[in-house]
Amino acid sequence: MSDAKIASKDLDVKQPSVLEGQPCPICKSNTLTLREAEVEVPFFGKLYLYSMDCSNCGFHKADVESAEQKPPVKIQFTVEGDKDLRVRVVKSSKARITLKGIGSIEPGIESNGYITNVEGLISRFKHQVQVILDSEDQDSDARAKAKKLLKKLNRILAGWDKAVLIIEDESGNSAILSEKAVTTRLKTSTKKSSRKK
Ligand SMILES: [Zn+2]
Repeated sequence: MSDAKIASKDLDVKQPSVLEGQPCPICKSNTLTLREAEVEVPFFGKLYLYSMDCSNCGFHKADVESAEQKPPVKIQFTVEGDKDLRVRVVKSSKARITLKGIGSIEPGIESNGYITNVEGLISRFKHQVQVILDSEDQDSDARAKAKKLLKKLNRILAGWDKAVLIIEDESGNSAILSEKAVTTRLKTSTKKSSRKK
């Protein structure tokens, strides 16, 4: 299957099951809606999409999980041009996203998992840079650096410049749906990242 075919093919999302009136973990009222849907992802397999939304306090959490247990993965993808920007991406809440030479987005408690495309992921970097530019308390150095990054990101998003996108996911629940994507096993370091506070 060609990249274009994968990118344009609509994913087969089954009708989600919806559970309303569940207790919200944040505000404790029974106003939480749970959704679960099954998706068949080419070259990846069956995937579950989950989400929780509270109509009372606005709490939102979403994630993806492969039906099969997957090993930790490192996926590298060179973005060159429009077509690559439309390539589908499965991003789990555990994924660390790096744009070589630009920066990285680390996973955290607030992270969500979802299906997007390459453009969607790169737009998140743009949003982060925009936040720096919009905040008052940045010195001129940081501002100039952010401006430069924004220019770079805009060129990538326009399909003019190349970029290397890397996703590292210990849970193995992430994927870039292109034949050009290079997937290897992620070497997990022996030092455990301490989550306890
Ligand atoms: Zn709530």
